[in-house]
Amino acid sequence: MFKHTIPSIFPLIAPNLTWKVKTNDKVLYITFDDGPHPTITPLVLNILDEYNAKATFFCVGENVTKYPDIFNQIINKGHAVGNHTYNHVKGWQTSDTAYLENIKKAAEVIPSNLFRPPYGRIKPSQIKLLKDHYRIIMWSILTRDYDKRLNPHNTIKQLNKLIKSGDVIVYHDSEKAQQNMLIMLKGVLQNFHQLQYTFKAL
Ligand SMILES: [Zn+2]
Repeated sequence: MFKHTIPSIFPLIAPNLTWKVKTNDKVLYITFDDGPHPTITPLVLNILDEYNAKATFFCVGENVTKYPDIFNQIINKGHAVGNHTYNHVKGWQTSDTAYLENIKKAAEVIPSNLFRPPYGRIKPSQIKLLKDHYRIIMWSILTRDYDKRLNPHNTIKQLNKLIKSGDVIVYHDSEKAQQNMLIMLKGVLQNFHQLQYTFKAL
């Protein structure tokens, strides 16, 4: 059994981070990490269009530099974008200065006040440096779409039971995740669209 939720203590220990959105409405916040990708991101954009869904894409700066047209498509379709560092840097293994530099480099190509740390790993000192400039977005539901051992069809059933209003859900528009992600994205959108949820950008 794979764990798709976070320990409920996390938001209490790290209140400067956004884990989910408080709302009384039927709204979900779907997010994608690690793009843009030249073929996978367009597939995601088409699926989102089918459900009139808006999402948030935490982009890696070097991918934005490689695929600026795909990045512009994301923005032109009304989705939000966020900074996910320039080189997908691990906060725990990087000095604060180098971490901040990498985020600044990404900010040159990603106009956004949203930030998500790669691997969810960020030091308290790094949070302190960033929190006045960025909304640091974590997640409340991890699809684990990148895990090849996972059965995407069973996972859809689990996710559809776990997901609640205001949840921030992580997918990846990356090669590693592509196969599971496309199946699980459709499965979740279909279910919650039927239940009259809307899907909004952060
Ligand atoms: Zn990432």
